[in-house]
Amino acid sequence: VISVDETLAIVIENAPRLEIEEVDFEQTLGRVLAEDVASDLDLPPFDRSSVDGFALRSRDVERVPAWLRLVGTVGAGEAPAFEVGEGEAAQVMTGAPVPRGADAIEMVERVTLLPDFRIEVKENVARGQNVAPRGQEATTGQAVLRAGTRLDAAGLAVLATVGKVRVRVGRQPKVAVAATGNELVAPSEKPGPGRIRNSNGFSLAAQARSAGASVTYLGVAVDDQDSIAEVVQRGLRHDVLLLSGGVSMGLLDLVEDVLLRFDVKILVNAVALKPGKPLVFGVGPAGALVFGLPGNPVSTAVTFELFVRSALARMEGCERVTRPYLTATLTAPLSSKGPRRAYLPGWLTASPQGLAATPVATRGSADIVAFSKANALLVVPEEHDRLEAGSPVAAWPLDNFFFKEDRWALADPVG
Ligand code: AMP
Ligand code: MG
Repeated sequence: VISVDETLAIVIENAPRLEIEEVDFEQTLGRVLAEDVASDLDLPPFDRSSVDGFALRSRDVERVPAWLRLVGTVGAGEAPAFEVGEGEAAQVMTGAPVPRGADAIEMVERVTLLPDFRIEVKENVARGQNVAPRGQEATTGQAVLRAGTRLDAAGLAVLATVGKVRVRVGRQPKVAVAATGNELVAPSEKPGPGRIRNSNGFSLAAQARSAGASVTYLGVAVDDQDSIAEVVQRGLRHDVLLLSGGVSMGLLDLVEDVLLRFDVKILVNAVALKPGKPLVFGVGPAGALVFGLPGNPVSTAVTFELFVRSALARMEGCERVTRPYLTATLTAPLSSKGPRRAYLPGWLTASPQGLAATPVATRGSADIVAFSKANALLVVPEEHDRLEAGSPVAAWPLDNFFFKEDRWALADPVG
């Protein structure tokens, strides 16, 4: 049995970087940059007005009130041919180039427009006021995005801004998903006696997709060697094979045996983790990563979260492959006995004092209904059996941390 941190290190060390491909920038949402991106322009490309107002010479309004003669208008997208001379001003719009001669902009709201094409300026305007000087955000050649970052909407905006229309990104990992178990029926069926619906096949596919992978669902194998061998053989042709079930101590837990038959090198087969102790991790003969995830739905989800997500991030070329733990204050005690590190479902809310963490009432590693109410995993460390209310707890935010924000105000997620 090895620790969570050791397991994570082994997984990451064995996750290969995938090739790089070039794609249109519009297709890069969620993809991982494989190159530094430099600006091909100064940003802004010209001295730019930040407001609607009047371009003027700051020296002309050192004494106020001052009256200035209007000599022109500049809209966004125009290139003014005229100059602003002594005693003169020009009306400018937000985003317009500052006409030559002017060194500051006074906001339109603070100026009185007189009937004879003059303005009255009532207060001093400092040199450079409301002017975004050329290159203040970035200069030509300066790196604006770094390799190893996952692109979001703002990243796409930067790519557009610097004209980077073809972008080198890490290839998306190809992930195969299969569930194992004699008891499993399809979600569309009503389970007969002793049977249950397969949920892991679908949650794993969804987790892998949201982690950036492209997913092939291989279906369900029953608990015999040949049936499992059939999905393993197909699965090993992918970058990653995820199997659920069949990795604990039962008579019909055959996944590890079958993996050995296919010359998968098993690197992990027990982790000091709760839930998720029987996790199997290995590397196939052609380099595929294989995860045998324990079948209890919460164990499946947690082990994906802790290990598979990081492996996928590394393969795609992410610089940072694990989520940072957040620190929150427990609103109620949290316990998990024994020496294994526990990751329990929790509900994070933002309070004026910082993050608060409320344990979600759960019946354990099969209780996917309780788990679905969590937006974070709360950690009970190896050396603790119980954390008291009011004490700090490490929290691993889940994907839904942001899309359950409509419920942030609720201390009790069950409500
Ligand atoms: P196993 O890891 O195969 O021993 O399964 C542990 C528990 O998880 C058992 O109660 C199984 O019925 C349940 N389980 C296994 N696979 C799935 C699945 N795909 N969907 C939902 N529950 C599952
Ligand atoms: Mg099973």
